[in-house]
Amino acid sequence: MENRKEMRTWLNEFNLKHPLVIAGPCSAETEDQVLKIAHDLKDTDVSVYRAGIWKPRTRPGMFEGVGAIGLKWLDKVKKETGLLTATEVANASHVKLALEYDIDVLWIGARSTVSPFIVQEIADALNGTDKIVLVKNPVNPDLSLWLGGIERLYSANIKKLGVIHRGFSTYEKSKYRNNPEWQLPIELQNKFPDLPLICDPSHIAGRRDILQDISQTALDLNFDGLMIETHIDPDNAWSDAAQQITPSVLVKMMNDLKIRTLTSEEADYKNQLNTLRTQIDVIDHGLLETLGKRMNVAISIGELKKKKNVAVLQTKRWNEILGNMILEGEKKGLSEEFVLRMFKAIHQESINNQNKVINS
Ligand code: PEP
Ligand code: MN
Repeated sequence: MENRKEMRTWLNEFNLKHPLVIAGPCSAETEDQVLKIAHDLKDTDVSVYRAGIWKPRTRPGMFEGVGAIGLKWLDKVKKETGLLTATEVANASHVKLALEYDIDVLWIGARSTVSPFIVQEIADALNGTDKIVLVKNPVNPDLSLWLGGIERLYSANIKKLGVIHRGFSTYEKSKYRNNPEWQLPIELQNKFPDLPLICDPSHIAGRRDILQDISQTALDLNFDGLMIETHIDPDNAWSDAAQQITPSVLVKMMNDLKIRTLTSEEADYKNQLNTLRTQIDVIDHGLLETLGKRMNVAISIGELKKKKNVAVLQTKRWNEILGNMILEGEKKGLSEEFVLRMFKAIHQESINNQNKVINS
């Protein structure tokens, strides 16, 4: 991973004034569907046409993809529209077929990135290819697993590498299908600033109404591109219907996105500031989320104390917490005074909440 500058070269070759846009259906369904969508995406900001041929489904019995015949349809797309083509590969035989049919961009799906065996098998099958290879984050929020996937491909002499952020699954339901956990791609970007970073708002959102917001956050965080599932008849799509949009909605969305261009030093400064501020916003949201969770735990403790008739303030426990936090804070460059003030405020709020529980 030493000579990382070259990682960006493939992206620069597109010579775009806007982010790289990869669009197309979640799944290739029929030849007609594949070609219609492709023709609608021709002459837009889209450079790469995506379609899943082999679909990894969480539960059996759902549509599992049309298989190799879809590769012929993608070949037609390339010939008729000039768009580059992309599909997901999940084992060595997928890779072999995709290379045979000259697919331009191969991506490794979130359910494959979790398995070092699978990633290694794919990396071996791809060894030395000059195709673009994109690694989606693993379904679980584990940065080293993601990095491990990138390293395995890099070691297989694949130079045109990039990553796709598609969010992380959680047990608790939230407004997202897959929680964005933006701090993970941010950390990845800080480690490998030259590795092209693409956001897949479709799989983060799981629904169309928040695609635009997620895409804007990604661009504000300096992502290099977007992969957006696009279908001529989204509601009747054979997979991921709720999150797909029509080509014309995609065009409108791209027009409405604020895309930053680097034209002068001033713009560069503003861009950097904007990126850092967006990072702060993401972290602040995380802080509030964590504090809310802590408060709920404190309330449960209050309920327990009420049952057992125990006093709210447990001085010994509190002094232990404070001592530990001061030591840990020091390691992270936080002053004792700040840690004390912050935890006193948090503790006070917990006590207030517990008192409310006990007196209710
Ligand atoms: C997809 O892109 O359609 C897909 C299956 O995505 P993921 O691997 O992110 O779930
Ligand atoms: Mn999908």
